[in-house]
Amino acid sequence: MSTKPARTRVAPSPTGHMHLGTARTALYCYLLAKQTGGQFLMRLEDTDLKRTVEGTEQELYDGLRWLGLQYDEGPDIGGPCGPYRQTERREIYQRHIQTLVASGNAYPCFCTAEHLDRVRQEQLKNKQNPRYDGTCRNLDPGQAARRVANGEPYTVRFKMPTEGVTVAHDHLRGDITTQNDQLNDFVLLKTDGLPTYHLAAIVDDYEMGITHVIRGSEWLGTFPLHVNLIRAFGWEEPIFVHLSVFLKPSGKGKMSKRDSAAAMKDGHSIFVKDMDELGFTPEGVLNWCALMGWGVAEDDVMTLDQMVERFSIDSLTPSPAAVNFQKLDHFNATHIRLFTAEDLAARIKPYFVREGLPVDDATLLKIVPLIRERLVTLGDCLDFAAFFFKEEVTPVPEELIAKGLDAKQSAEIARKSHQILSALSSFSHSEAEPPMRAYVEESGLNPNQVFGILRVATTGQKVSPPLFESMEIIGRDKCLARIEKAIQVLESL
Ligand code: GLU
Repeated sequence: MSTKPARTRVAPSPTGHMHLGTARTALYCYLLAKQTGGQFLMRLEDTDLKRTVEGTEQELYDGLRWLGLQYDEGPDIGGPCGPYRQTERREIYQRHIQTLVASGNAYPCFCTAEHLDRVRQEQLKNKQNPRYDGTCRNLDPGQAARRVANGEPYTVRFKMPTEGVTVAHDHLRGDITTQNDQLNDFVLLKTDGLPTYHLAAIVDDYEMGITHVIRGSEWLGTFPLHVNLIRAFGWEEPIFVHLSVFLKPSGKGKMSKRDSAAAMKDGHSIFVKDMDELGFTPEGVLNWCALMGWGVAEDDVMTLDQMVERFSIDSLTPSPAAVNFQKLDHFNATHIRLFTAEDLAARIKPYFVREGLPVDDATLLKIVPLIRERLVTLGDCLDFAAFFFKEEVTPVPEELIAKGLDAKQSAEIARKSHQILSALSSFSHSEAEPPMRAYVEESGLNPNQVFGILRVATTGQKVSPPLFESMEIIGRDKCLARIEKAIQVLESL
């Protein structure tokens, strides 16, 4: 376990919906920071203006807060290393790029898009990896400076070493060695004066004192560039952790748009913004994300605080993780069982309100213990408990007929039940159940037949929480009225 306070960051781009990969990265960053008494930062990497999607910046803040991963510093809350939005840090990148150019580690490039495209086509035709052909790499610095001063459009490229090897160390994968002649002179600063990811991320990680860079494995390809860049600046390298990739549920290939659409149809999603709507809890989602790439026992149920205690970057695994939505269901259901009755009542209340049902807290608190074990998502509360708050229920008439009996016989049972129940002095389940059981006994009927009719009559559905407990909550008058209505329906069949 690392004992030095860690400074970690999640650095998403506002280019699309917040994905569970971002949630997982944020979670690991949060855990490490909290465990070591350090700080967890949120940085917005918004320098790719063409790909920016309006609304997704807010979605990131909201998503992290919903998950309970509150950052200590960030664009919307500030902090000692701000601003935390990269488009507001231009001067910082300009300053650092000048140092790199001055030290001969970077150079202005005046190549036009047409030229670059021609070179690329040519290389592809010759079955070579497309890379910069080096036209501007050896321009005379004085002459290049004059062209810049004259207002000629330019980018700034990194001058990659061309000989030897680059050894980059990943905490999970060990040393990664790359032949330098395979590397490319990447663009660091674009013609619009904004940095590319490579420059911005490296500069910001340095400026913000980041100790651990935990990020997606899509950055492994340019990892050698990043370490060369850090070394060219003469900075200390943070610890790099490239997380495992997510695979589609079948384990074959990466999640595609089609897989996401299929998941949505099935009541699941890979986007954080959908989770609440679909009835998933932050606790369930976090637990699910945590174990995709963290090698604790498969089925470990943990709260955020427990994760903080147990987390270690040493137990992260680089092997790909298949997205398993059944596990999301499992963790969600498990956490629902761990909430206090008050907490769960407060979480399911909005679902009833949204349906326009007159839900009251006292009734809800009585219902919670009856339905808790049946909930996979919070929204399931409607299936199991909406009838408590409805003035009337409308059962499917045929469902009132007990198995093996006809409508007339079923009506007779309903009548008899009504008689027994209306004679009771109290409608509590402990008072109502024994005489009803005695009736079942005497009549020689099967309990499922009698209780089935009562269940459908009073709740309107075939599946419900325990019958007598439910009837107690529905209340005497409503129950008797519902049974009377059921008798009428059965008689009309
Ligand atoms: N903006 C990058 C992304 O969204 C961040 C990668 C990193 O954490 O450095 O993938």
